[in-house]
Order: sequence, then C-alpha cells, then structure tokens
Amino acid sequence: MSPLDSLAAALTQRKQQHLYRSRPLLESAQGARVCVDGKNYHNFCSNDYLGLANHPQVIAAFQQAANDYGVGSGGSHLVCGHSRLHHQLEEELAAFTGRDRVLLFSTGYMANLGIINALVGKQDAVFEDKLNHASLLDGGLLSGAKFQRFLHNDVASLAKKLSASTATRKLIVVDGVFSMDGDCAPLTELAALAQQQNAWLMVDDAHGFGVLGEQGAGCAEHFQLDQQQLPILMATLGKAAGSFGAFVAGSEVLIETLIQFARPYIYTTALPPAVAAASLASLAVIRDDRARRQKLQHLIGHFKQQAQAQGIALMPSDTAIQPLLIGDSAKALAISQALAAQGFMVGAIRPPTVPNNTARLRITLTADHSEQHINDLVVALAQIMAELC
Ligand code: PMP
Repeated sequence: MSPLDSLAAALTQRKQQHLYRSRPLLESAQGARVCVDGKNYHNFCSNDYLGLANHPQVIAAFQQAANDYGVGSGGSHLVCGHSRLHHQLEEELAAFTGRDRVLLFSTGYMANLGIINALVGKQDAVFEDKLNHASLLDGGLLSGAKFQRFLHNDVASLAKKLSASTATRKLIVVDGVFSMDGDCAPLTELAALAQQQNAWLMVDDAHGFGVLGEQGAGCAEHFQLDQQQLPILMATLGKAAGSFGAFVAGSEVLIETLIQFARPYIYTTALPPAVAAASLASLAVIRDDRARRQKLQHLIGHFKQQAQAQGIALMPSDTAIQPLLIGDSAKALAISQALAAQGFMVGAIRPPTVPNNTARLRITLTADHSEQHINDLVVALAQIMAELC
C-alpha cells in the first residue's frame, strides 16, 4: 500500500465509524441565528457565550484600531510586534483577574503548550484530569515530565498520585469548566491539596472567563481563589470575549519565565493589534454589562427546566455548556442531522474528542438566545429523541 493509499484507508475507516468530521461553511456573522451553506439556523453550538463576537462596540474598536495600527502585527512580541494595545490589554486583564501580571498568547492551544513546557521537564511530573482539553494533554505529553492522569474531578485519586510522586516540581493541570461536559473542577479542594503537597495549580478557564463570577472574571472569582491559591490562571479570548487569543495571569516571576522560555510565545507572530483592541472593548462590556451574564444564567436555568419537563436527561452542568449524553456515535450524528433539518445547529461530539461510547450533543447557550429559541429547540429535540432513541 502506498503512503497515500494508507491515508485514504484511514479516512474511509473514520467514515465507517461515524467519526468523520466536516466543516460547516458559515456565511454570516456569529450569533444566535447564523447562515450556514445558504440556510438559516438557530445556533446552539457557538462558544460566543455573551454574544460579543458581533457586538457594535467590539466591532468599532476593531475597526478603529485597524485604521490606527494596520492589520498585521509585523513580528513576534520580543522583536517588534508588541504594540501599545497588547500591553494595555495585558494590564487591564491583570487588574480584572486580580493578578500581578498577564501575558497574551496568540491562541489558547499555544498558551497551554507554552506554559506547561516552560514550567516542567524531565525531572518533573504533571498531573492532569482525564477529561482535560486536548491542548493541556498535548502540552503535558510534550513536556517530557512524568505524565499522570487522574480520574475526572476525583481529588482523592489525585492526592494518591501526588503523595507517591518524588518529582522535583509537580504541576496539577485542570480545566475550570470542562469543555465537553460543562461541569466545573473542584477548585477549592484542588487549591488546598496543591498547597499541602507543594505543587503548582494551573487552571484553563477558557469556558469560565466572562461567564462565571459576579464580575465575569471566571472560575477564580467564582471560587474566590487568589494568586497564591491559584498561581497559574489561563483563559482564552475567543469564547465569551467574542474575540481571539488567550492569556495567562499570575506572578511577576511566572510571566517573566514564560517570556523567556515559552517557545509558542517567543517564536510566533503577535496577534494583530486590532484583535487586542477588540478584546479591550469586550472586557469593558464584560465588566460593565452584567445584564448579559444574568440573562445567560437565566437561560441556562430555563433550558434545564424545559428539558426536564420533556423528560430529556441532561448531563450535570450549571454552565452554558449543556451536553446530552447519547453514547453511540452514529445515533448522536443522526440526532444532530435531524435537528439541522429542523433548523437547529447542535454539534455531535464524538471520539476522540470524548471517550469511546460517550458521544453526545453539545448544546451551548448564549446571551443572544431567547426563551422562545430554547423552547423550540427542546420540543424538536424531544420529538427527534422519541423517534431515534
Ligand atoms: N482550552 C480549552 C478548554 C478549550 O476549549 C479551547 C478551545 N476549544 C482551547 C483551550 C484552545 O483555545 P484556542 O481556540 O484559543 O486555541
């Protein structure tokens, strides 16, 4: 078999297993209603939780900064790409998260590879929740540190592994809100354990930032964890902030270490400055427009109530990520396709993104939805499930 034939065979196998993924072609702005491949849908699969990707203030800031600074950043941060707007965003994010300093990364994936690899190496150990995001798992594997996974949200399972470890540095890594399950990590217990075991705690708050906490500062605010208790706080700006990029917040020493040693920070082009301006505008909305967050919280409760009334058993989650466990990949795909035929976009998440036999519909809610959108989705879902399950 030629190398190309073997690739083609692997693709065919993916199709046969109902695991083949395709890319819906979006022809409109992000929002509760989107146009995909020429058809309009109610969008229940976006991470734009607060509806900021298409917010007039955010767009205006982006446009103004493009006029002032141009489009490309022209270089990496350490050479000539670090603009005043990047710097201002770092300072405002540090104040917002209550940390000494912040460092921007071009994407969340790169941030996670960069942070973990700058902090641990061969002599060290990294402890990751089994359901951590792929970028955290990849970062841990790439680091060369002893890679240990503990049972999902099981503090006792982690404690056992930590006390048995003789590694020089121990790094605990978890998602704040698990991206495919929607549940939160037990951060209070994890922070206490980390301090007791002299380990670092790193949290990826991609799905909590902007959504959790009174001010929207994410899981650190929600669980009231300061920099000492949660020293490595990472979050992305492409989800609730409706923009693009990521950041890590922590101590002066942490940030300087990353500037000097995090290769995905050093060897890449800085974000376009206009993207930083858009994020600054989003941050202002997150801070000032609490009604958006309150509406999202209300809609989450409403969705759970409506689903329960229709006998739909959701996974336990109080966040904007409301998954419905199906199990079989073909069935999850069939339900997602039937929903699409009725005008609802809901992703069917299948292995390897989730463990085998745990395919699910990942329903995400945003502040742009209405109760009526949600009622319509739940009715369609109940009818399709009755037919297909
Ligand atoms: N961490 C988590 C938990 C995520 O869900 C994602 C995005 N899917 C990332 C990191 C990666 O962030 P980005 O899209 O900015 O690369």
